[in-house]
Amino acid sequence: MPGIVNAIPPRLDAELTAAERSRILAKSALFSPPPAVLPDGRRDLVGLSREEMAEEFAQIGEAPFRVKQVWHWIYHRGATDFAAMSSIARPLQTRLAERFVIGRPVASTVQTSTDDTRKFLFRFRDGQEAETVYIPDPQQDRGAVCISSQVGCTLSCRFCHTGTQKLVRNLGPAEIVGQFMAARDSYGEWPSPRGETPRLLSTIVLMGMGEPLYNYENVARAMRIVMDNEGIGLSRRRITLSTSGVVPMMDRAGEELGVNLAVSLHAVRDELRDELVPLNRKYPIAELMAACRRYPGATNARRITFEYVMLRGINDSEADARQLVRLIAGMPAKVNLIPFNPWPGSAYEPSSGNALHRFANIVMDAGFASPIRTPRGQDILAACGQLKTESRRIGQGGV
Ligand code: SAH
Ligand code: SF4
Repeated sequence: MPGIVNAIPPRLDAELTAAERSRILAKSALFSPPPAVLPDGRRDLVGLSREEMAEEFAQIGEAPFRVKQVWHWIYHRGATDFAAMSSIARPLQTRLAERFVIGRPVASTVQTSTDDTRKFLFRFRDGQEAETVYIPDPQQDRGAVCISSQVGCTLSCRFCHTGTQKLVRNLGPAEIVGQFMAARDSYGEWPSPRGETPRLLSTIVLMGMGEPLYNYENVARAMRIVMDNEGIGLSRRRITLSTSGVVPMMDRAGEELGVNLAVSLHAVRDELRDELVPLNRKYPIAELMAACRRYPGATNARRITFEYVMLRGINDSEADARQLVRLIAGMPAKVNLIPFNPWPGSAYEPSSGNALHRFANIVMDAGFASPIRTPRGQDILAACGQLKTESRRIGQGGV
């Protein structure tokens, strides 16, 4: 009986959560990216924290203040070449170039949709690939960069194309920040606009390939770099992390990063969510909702977004909408209704327009914003849940 299932108090045992978190981090480490070093031994400076960069510089006898200078060139000016760093003397430029590089993933393919959405297939140093999408706002000069956190995904949500690609590996900080920087190269938006100056690449959504909370350390390092005020300087309010519900890591992301949270809910009963989002078997709806309620920094000005992909005849009834409203009652929340984006071989159909609007109205009448997300970039398979690359894990025998 659903009433009884929901009545089970959320697991709040701190020790249990800590153990679970260590287990998740240990598993994540098995899929670590290769070191950000070229075959000739030069190290990529992108992706290092200021402290790490200072350590690298100390090894070649350079003072910590150099970090400030180089950081400015890399992240504010977008320099990819030490020779362009005009505030640094020539001999030092040469020495830096002997030891370091300023890397970018290589765009193997760039496709622009009829609606101006642009999808990049980026290739990393070991040949693995992931996709990044820039979604411009049709009305204003701004837009979101949808960034991948993993090549493939361990989870296999039934409606998601990425879910059919096994996890190959986690992306490193250089590769995560690199997606944003390379996308920005493509629009020539350097130097980084300061403060409230309008930006074309104005927000980041961690909604590309992979589960960001299963690659937390690398994602966190990358986001700290992106948020640094002397560089790219995107505030945490302009970053949204989307999770399928890795409960033990949600608290940590909230406390340490304070970015906006989006939760891929998609079903309001455990039985159905177990099937659509198999991670639900580990962290059922009641636990997920409890984690959302305690997510630090969620207020009416910064609401939690619940993502809900509308699948015809599966999760789109009025009863589902009413149960959704009960689940989020009293939370600073909004609901993003996502029309299902089909992909080759997918088993579902999108809900009818009527079902979408009926559902949206019930949620809205209960006082929650419930925008229906307009699919973008469908013609180039760039819309939510359509991303996938050919990358395979070496040694997997082509599985
Ligand atoms: N792994 C994270 C981040 C990916 S976000 C997560 O699942 O939240 C991608 C969003 O698109 C998620 O909300 C996902 O559930 C949704 N999605 C996946 N497949 C989709 C599809 N075929 N059509 C529409 N949305 C989809
Ligand atoms: Fe992975 Fe998210 Fe796709 Fe689920 S929806 S398979 S968690 S990328």
